[in-house]
Amino acid sequence: MKYKCNFCDPTVTKKMKEEGIKPTKSIDTEKDEFVKDDKGKYYHLNCFKNHLAKRKKLDESEIEKLLFERLEITKLENQENEEKDNFLQWIMDYYDGSLPAYFLKKLQSVRDGSHQGLNEPIDYSTLLDIYNHMEKYLRKVAAQKNIRNVTQQMNYDLAVVVGNYGDYKRYKAKQKLEQDKTEVAKKAVNEQSKIKTALDKKKNNDGDSFSLHDVLDDILL
Ligand SMILES: [Zn+2]
Repeated sequence: MKYKCNFCDPTVTKKMKEEGIKPTKSIDTEKDEFVKDDKGKYYHLNCFKNHLAKRKKLDESEIEKLLFERLEITKLENQENEEKDNFLQWIMDYYDGSLPAYFLKKLQSVRDGSHQGLNEPIDYSTLLDIYNHMEKYLRKVAAQKNIRNVTQQMNYDLAVVVGNYGDYKRYKAKQKLEQDKTEVAKKAVNEQSKIKTALDKKKNNDGDSFSLHDVLDDILL
């Protein structure tokens, strides 16, 4: 993506536009560090500092504080946009490439948690994961129901996906529990072998006499 920097890119007036002058967009989101201010304008990172110092007359510490805030917000927004893009790309690939306004409106309500039957927002990467998990099932149901209209199918599928969110969360929680268990088991085996090595070493060094403290020292080192 390219954005116009509100500090270093020249302002293009209406008159200039009429004369065919195109605005410069020198921020390349792939390469440049940039921030978006609370008015939705974009700046190179350094240009934002200059903007705050020269135009807003802020001092060093105010600039640092504001810069940090805006960087955090910009980062979150970028992540959100990226996840949304990935999700919508999947949707377009799965269906016929169109994104009906009605579907997007519904999607927005799922994202902000206001969708009927939902009591929390679902983020785009989670939605994508659920669609991926349910893809086969959705195809099967669509074939059985013989839905011919793509918009109708998109809305129907979204309802199915949202309806399965609770199950998905339980499935994820169980998966995490299993993972944690495996981690704990691995750790226990690791500790045991450490203790055994330390004990063997002690035996070799001291013959029969060894103190537990020495062994623990070895393990903890
Ligand atoms: Zn700039």
